[in-house]
Amino acid sequence: MTNTGFNSLIISYNENMTGISISKKIKYLGIWLTAKNAQLLENNYKLMWREIKQDLQKWQNLNISLLGRTATIKMNILPKMLSLFQNLPIIRSMKTIAEWNKDLSKFIWNGKKPRIRYATMTEKKDRGGFGLPNLKLYADACALTWIKDWCNLKKENILNIECFDLRRGWHAYIWYDKKRIEKFFGNHFIRSSLIKVWEKYKKYMYDKTPLWISPLEENNRKLLGWSQWPTYKDILIKKNNEFQIRSIEEIKRSYRNLTWLQYAQIKEKFVIDNKVGFCSNEKFWDKILQSDKKEITKIYDKLLEWTNAAEEVKGCMVKWAQNIGHTITIAEWETLWKKKIKYTYAWDLKENWLKSFHRWYITPQKLGKMYKGTKNSCWKCKDHIGSYYHAWWTCQEAGKFWKMIHTESQKILGKKFPMKPEYYLLNLTDSETQFNINDDKLFTYINTAARIIFAKHWKSQLIPGKEEWLEKIEDIRDMDELTFLLKTYRGQPIKRTDWDQYKKYMDMK
Ligand SMILES: [Zn+2]
Repeated sequence: MTNTGFNSLIISYNENMTGISISKKIKYLGIWLTAKNAQLLENNYKLMWREIKQDLQKWQNLNISLLGRTATIKMNILPKMLSLFQNLPIIRSMKTIAEWNKDLSKFIWNGKKPRIRYATMTEKKDRGGFGLPNLKLYADACALTWIKDWCNLKKENILNIECFDLRRGWHAYIWYDKKRIEKFFGNHFIRSSLIKVWEKYKKYMYDKTPLWISPLEENNRKLLGWSQWPTYKDILIKKNNEFQIRSIEEIKRSYRNLTWLQYAQIKEKFVIDNKVGFCSNEKFWDKILQSDKKEITKIYDKLLEWTNAAEEVKGCMVKWAQNIGHTITIAEWETLWKKKIKYTYAWDLKENWLKSFHRWYITPQKLGKMYKGTKNSCWKCKDHIGSYYHAWWTCQEAGKFWKMIHTESQKILGKKFPMKPEYYLLNLTDSETQFNINDDKLFTYINTAARIIFAKHWKSQLIPGKEEWLEKIEDIRDMDELTFLLKTYRGQPIKRTDWDQYKKYMDMK
């Protein structure tokens, strides 16, 4: 394929994917070395972002929930950006991305100060986050799909266009750090952006030489015109737990053109690499290389995991444990994020669960710290300092509410169980409740209803009553039935919630 053929392919691909025409300037990619990075940024990324900003402004005034806003970004904005990230991986400065994030944050938080940290917002839902796309990591994931070609050495045509001015093979730059000696590698702005991304994550991937490295390609790419390169995987053999080089005869069975001179080169390289050692067990990146697909999502998930690893113990988890007076294990939290979140398709319920866990509600105590002269006493009892746990649980006024909910919940479920804060504030039940799955589902619904109405009167002295609670449960029940019917109608049947106990309770009332 010629340069222009390759580039027009990029253009038509983009137009098909997004309905937005990528600037025709992209055809100058054929002379990458002379094209100006700033121009490409301006004509593609900046243009696209201006359109996105207009959309954000239009949506700003719609009454969309927090999860709805997150989903809007994921479904409307992410695909547009992905098509650019994939075809024009030239984002080098964090400044550009920081500006985008600022615009997104403004949209999500309706122009107000963010109430949940960015790392938590971008964390995956099954790890207790909101699943907001992290654009930087998506850009990096897309860049790595290009690097994948450099590692695999398979797409000859494209690789030849991208390396026409290089003296060495790709593996010299991605593994043997030749970029530092041969500066012109970085004069090419797509290459220089990509290698920057690769070097950032390489250290997470390998501490020893990976077996997909070809020591021959590293040295000879330009000279031989080969289309298949022997990798360490092809030429090494493990004997007595040590790597050795196969004989030239053995290698020649697959690579007939191999000369004695090249074999000597390989041996020389092997001696050096063997000092560091070889990575014999398959790592994350080895699996990506073996896949025929681009695997953007898989790569993204991994980058997110690495990026958020330091955030593992979230502040709110520690605070909950302090409030409740005992630790909550990761496994227990995970039952919330992985299992219970699937009890419902209703977004307002899910959103309530996430807000409860992340201690979303602003307390008198916090307001007192934020604004001088503001009282920090509880809005319900007017007596104690309104801390998060006080307002939700230990306050005697709130306590009356929860006692009522607890008494009625036991009647509905026809079971006696202790009144623990984690049951009601976090949906975190334990064996003492002796719930079966249906009980647990019902209980989750009725305590969520309680939290939703309690939060509705958050800033007032009022304590909601039983009728308001039962009304909310009715709403949830309607939604639950509707979800069941819709799912069945669409041929994806789910287990129907058994509401009989609740109906009996209502009849007896
Ligand atoms: Zn109080």
